[in-house]
Amino acid sequence: MATYDLIVIGAGPAGAAAAIVAARKGLSVAVFEKRGYGRDKVCGDGLTPRAVGALQQLGIGLDGAHRIDGLRMIAGPRVRELAWPETSRFPAHGAVWPRRRLDAALVDAATEAGAELYWESEAIPTMDGERVVGVKANGQTYSSEMVVVATGAPGQVARMLGAERIDGEPFGLAIRTYVESPRHADRHLEACLTLVDEHGTAVPGYGWMFPAGDGTVNIGVGALSTMKNFKQLNLNHLLDSYRGLVEKTWDIGPNLERPRAWRLPMTAQRRHGPGWMAVGDAAGLINPMNGEGIDYGLESGMLAAELFAADPATAPIKYHLAVGERFDSFLRTGRRFSFLIGHPWILRNGLKLAVGTEAIAQITLGVMGNLIDSDTPGAAGRVLTVADKALAVADPVLRRTRAAS
Ligand SMILES: Cc1cc2nc3c(=O)[nH]c(=O)nc-3n(C[C@H](O)[C@H](O)[C@H](O)COP(=O)(O)OP(=O)(O)OC[C@H]3O[C@@H](n4cnc5c(N)ncnc54)[C@H](O)[C@@H]3O)c2cc1C
Repeated sequence: MATYDLIVIGAGPAGAAAAIVAARKGLSVAVFEKRGYGRDKVCGDGLTPRAVGALQQLGIGLDGAHRIDGLRMIAGPRVRELAWPETSRFPAHGAVWPRRRLDAALVDAATEAGAELYWESEAIPTMDGERVVGVKANGQTYSSEMVVVATGAPGQVARMLGAERIDGEPFGLAIRTYVESPRHADRHLEACLTLVDEHGTAVPGYGWMFPAGDGTVNIGVGALSTMKNFKQLNLNHLLDSYRGLVEKTWDIGPNLERPRAWRLPMTAQRRHGPGWMAVGDAAGLINPMNGEGIDYGLESGMLAAELFAADPATAPIKYHLAVGERFDSFLRTGRRFSFLIGHPWILRNGLKLAVGTEAIAQITLGVMGNLIDSDTPGAAGRVLTVADKALAVADPVLRRTRAAS
C-alpha cells in the first residue's frame, strides 16, 4: 500500500493550492483527479484582486492571464465603469484566465514542488471507524495521515462524509460558453445586474462578459436559488436573452461551444472531521454576492496545508476555526443578502441605489467583492459592518418571507 503524508482529492484550484503548499514544505503529497490533465471547469474565469493576491502568494506568475483593471456595472440604462478598490491587502488588478490554463498552471506548480498526480483516478475515502485514513482509487488503497477533500460541488465524497450543502440555505446555478469578439482585450469585467427571466421576473444574479484577451470572451449568466420559481428557471433561455442584450455592443460571433451549467455551493454541513478537511467548493466557500469561489478555494487550500504541516493532530479543528474567522461572517451576510434580493421589488430598488452614484457603486464593488482593507476598511467596511448587524437582526424575517418558499 502506498503511503503519503497528505492525500488531496480533486485537482481544481483548492486542491492544487493545498498540494503546492504541502509539497513545498517537504511533505509527501498525492493528488487524485478523476478527469485528465488539462481538464476544463465550467466557470466565468474571472479573478478578482483577492484571487490574484492568492496566486501571488503561491508564486504563480500571471503571464498567461489577461489583466483586468476594474468592473463595468450595468443596471438598466445606467453604466458605471469602476476601478478595483485600492487596498493594502490585495493588488489593484484582477485577471481573466480560462480555467483549462489556470488549473494546469496550478497543477504544474504542484508537480514541480514534488506532489504526485494521479489522473483519471476517482478516489473515495477509506475509513477506520469515524476516521478517514486514506483513499481507494484505481482498485488500490493509498493511506495518509490526512485527506484534503477538494472535490468541488458536493457529490459522492461529500455524501459519504456528511458534507453536503445545508438544505434551505441559498446556492447558485450558472451557465457559460465562449464567443469571439473584437473587444476580447477589454480591460474591464462587465456585469449586467438587471436580468429578467422569460416571465419578466427580475433575477437575483447577473450576466457577464469576461474578456480573455485571446480572441474570446467568456459569456454567462448566474442566478441565486432565493428567487421565486427558481426550479423553473431555464438557464439556457436566460443566457440566450442575455446574448441578445450584448450581441451588438460586443459584436459577438456564435457560441464556440455548447453552453454548460454547474452548481455554486454556498454552505456545507461539515468541513472537517477526523483525518479530513474540506476546501473550496467542497466546503461551500463561494461568495453569495458575486459567485466567485476561486479565491476562497486557493486561500482555504493553502490554509489547510499550512495547518497540517504545523500540527497534523490539531489541523482539522484549527482549520475549521480559522475558516470560520476568515470567511463565515461575510458569507453568512452574503446569504442573508441573497434572501433579500430574491424579492424582485427589493432587487430593483436596491440596484437603483447600489449603482445610483459613482461613489456608492464603488462601495458596492468593495463590499460585493469582499475587497475590504483590514487596516483601513473605509466606507465599504463601514457599510458591511452595518449590513452585517441589520441582516443578522432581520434573519428570521428574511427566512420566513423568502421569495422561493
Ligand atoms: C458557471 C460558473 C461560473 C463561475 N465563475 C466564476 C468566476 O468567474 N470567478 C470565480 O472566482 N469563481 C467562479 N465560479 C466558481 C468557481 O468555478 C469555483 O468556486 C471553483 O472552481 C472552486 O474550485 P475547487 O478547486 O473547490 O473545485 P473544482 O474547480 O470544481 O475542482 C474539483 C475537482 O475535483 C474533481 N473530483 C471530484 N470528485 C472527485 C473524486 N471522487 N476523485 C477525484 N477527483 C474528483 C473534479 O473532477 C474537479 O476537477 C463559477 C462557477 C460556475 C458554475
